[in-house]
Amino acid sequence: MMPAYNLPPEFRALAPLPERPRLLVVDDQPINIQTLYQIFHADHEVFMATSGEQALAFCRDNVPPDLILLDVIMPGMDGIEVCRRLKSDPALADIPVIFVTARSEPADEAGALAEGGVDFIAKPVNPAVVRARVKTHLTLKAQTDLLHSLVFIDGLTGVANRRRFDEALQIEWRRCRRSNTPLTLLMIDIDHFKRYNDHYGHQTGDACLQKIAATLKAGLRRAHDLVARYGGEEFVCLMPECDYPAGQNKAEELRAAIAALGIPHADSPTVSRVTLSIGTAVMHPNGENSPDALIAAADAALYEAKNRGRDRVFAAPPA
Ligand code: GH3
Ligand code: MG
Ligand code: MG
Repeated sequence: MMPAYNLPPEFRALAPLPERPRLLVVDDQPINIQTLYQIFHADHEVFMATSGEQALAFCRDNVPPDLILLDVIMPGMDGIEVCRRLKSDPALADIPVIFVTARSEPADEAGALAEGGVDFIAKPVNPAVVRARVKTHLTLKAQTDLLHSLVFIDGLTGVANRRRFDEALQIEWRRCRRSNTPLTLLMIDIDHFKRYNDHYGHQTGDACLQKIAATLKAGLRRAHDLVARYGGEEFVCLMPECDYPAGQNKAEELRAAIAALGIPHADSPTVSRVTLSIGTAVMHPNGENSPDALIAAADAALYEAKNRGRDRVFAAPPA
């Protein structure tokens, strides 16, 4: 078996990669699929589609492939259109697409690459060339994914980090402003967490942060909702198109979900398990308010929740 990636061993410690990357081969001629299958099946998992429609359905209904080898000329939906549709679906846009086609005029090639393909291979394919190109693009994709996770994911808890949150807040603020919909922010802080660390040790503290992050993440189900680690033992939830009552309900749900974990906290002056205080704020983004004002309002609400005795939600009424 040949290695499917061109990456140093240290890389694998940081980013576990599939042993056999998943390739989707799309071609209306079964014989062409067969050729690529023979080239790749020993060290890749090879899936096949004989039409553009089938290819899109496969990507949407399964764990998306790591790379697609896409014929350009097919009856019905051609490869260019398939690529365009993949690129317009955020869940599929990052899959590298290599066009494989008999038509290799520079204009065809340029046109296909302009649609977001990463490479262009002429038929009949040369096994060594197609293998090398697939390996290159799987490697590039793995590197991009790792870079993305190092930049935007919190290393301890696996949820979004502060940088990602800052970016998402700007984006969602503008989006809600355009659509004139409310934007809710939850500011979440673990109660008496310093005592927890002092009592159980820092490693148990870290494990507690991981459990809380996972529970918060599981509690937010909408695609645009975001959980992020805001600071040491503070988390935020950003919820677009979420109004005052919905935000208050969600905060209460999350508070209850953490309480229900029943993580012992023998040294807490509040109750003998780990609890959260949550402040919520909501705004209709416009010219008079700002993302910073939303953070400040959620922060003030959190302060109020702490002040009123912890283990509770304080929802600041809409301004
Ligand atoms: P309060 O109820 O008022 O929030 O009290 P608190 O003790 O939670 O608040 P404080 O801000 O004084 O303490 C936060 C503590 O969180 C300090 C530190 O021990 C702990 N902490 C922050 N980051 C980490 C981390 O990455 N891992 C662990 N284990 N603990 C952390
Ligand atoms: Mg704190
Ligand atoms: Mg705290």
